[in-house]
Amino acid sequence: MSQRLYLQPGDCLFRQGDRGECAYIVESGRIRISATRRGTELTLNEVGPGEMLGELSLLDAGPRTASAWACDEATLTVVTRSQIDERLARAEPVLRLLMRQAMRHLRREIQDVSLPGESSPPMIEHIRLETELLSGIQNGELELWYQPIVNLARRDIEGFEALVRWRSPTRGLVPPVDFIPMAEETGLVVRLGDWVLHTACEALSRLGPAADGKYVCVNVSGRQLEQVGFAHGVRETIAKTGIEASRLHLEVTEGVLIQSPLARAALHECKDIGVRLLLDYFGTGYSSLAYLNQLPFDGIKIDRSFAAKMTEEGDGNKLVVAMLSLAQQLGRGVIMEGIETTEQRDALRRLGGSVCQGYYFCRPVPVRQLEEVLRAGLGEKLG
Ligand code: C2E
Ligand code: MG
Repeated sequence: MSQRLYLQPGDCLFRQGDRGECAYIVESGRIRISATRRGTELTLNEVGPGEMLGELSLLDAGPRTASAWACDEATLTVVTRSQIDERLARAEPVLRLLMRQAMRHLRREIQDVSLPGESSPPMIEHIRLETELLSGIQNGELELWYQPIVNLARRDIEGFEALVRWRSPTRGLVPPVDFIPMAEETGLVVRLGDWVLHTACEALSRLGPAADGKYVCVNVSGRQLEQVGFAHGVRETIAKTGIEASRLHLEVTEGVLIQSPLARAALHECKDIGVRLLLDYFGTGYSSLAYLNQLPFDGIKIDRSFAAKMTEEGDGNKLVVAMLSLAQQLGRGVIMEGIETTEQRDALRRLGGSVCQGYYFCRPVPVRQLEEVLRAGLGEKLG
């Protein structure tokens, strides 16, 4: 499935009576919509940039009620049935009804069109990104990079965090911040997350002696945890790749846990398997002390914003001390994120912390480079 269609003047997009599998958003050009009534072809409408066509037969699964032809050169974004279904399935029933009603009027409703030469409206950009990411996952465009996690007391690398990147043929190397939020919103993060989990466990297993005794941290979003069978998938991945469960650490990145019994249950199941659980972004609005009490977390990752605060004037230091001592009293581990300078490393040591990661030690790198880093070690940087 291509995410964009380019039509020449006179090209037919679909014909009356066809099965409707896709809707289209016009990016540029004009599309004439016509229907045959009692043997006479009538032009019903003409749609242009920012307008959608072909959506009705997606919603009611009926045949196309009209044909569509390009009046001039036209570019269209394809919206698939699964993209529509995914959104409708997640909507409240009342919203769903409203949506269906609104869709009937969509051709007239979408007025925030871009003029020729202007950038695409956010809606089109969003759908295009989603479609490209889906085919990117299918075409093997995802890469997993790894950032070492060091232990300052033992002066070695004790594990690494797996961080996804997307090598898009059109966008270049895309950082997760540019596509993970969208993937979470649309549910694509479930497929993406399966790939990440499998690839990370496989990498750990393939690294062999170079990674002896080390663990891999995998970021998991709330959407994944809410999938029925998440823990089962984790168990299967561990069995397939042959790693010990305790060498897989899952970092939970979201605040959905409080409301979601499914996500909470998944965490307990993962814990029973022997996987270790970390609460990511600790100290920011996303994490809560209550989680630490109620859920089986083995440790916290202190948000990187605190790394800089450790060496600044003010209370940053005290907050880090408080978080370190809280974790210690509860018997949980701590990883400090975002160490960028020697001063920050030394400050952490002074405050009693020892496990950390950050650009100072090593940026995230592809697996081949990670292997080199594991062999060579980080030398002086570990102080
Ligand atoms: P995170 O889990 O907090 O991951 C750490 C992020 O901090 C990474 O950004 C890493 O490159 C960056 N970082 C590490 N050391 C330093 C430092 O010293 N200074 C600064 N300024 N940044 C540092 P990245 O790779 O861009 O990932 C961003 C976020 O995307 C991650 O934050 C995580 O929430 C999410 N993410 C990444 N991979 C995955 C994934 O496979 N699944 C899910 N669900 N989310 C992911
Ligand atoms: Mg993380």
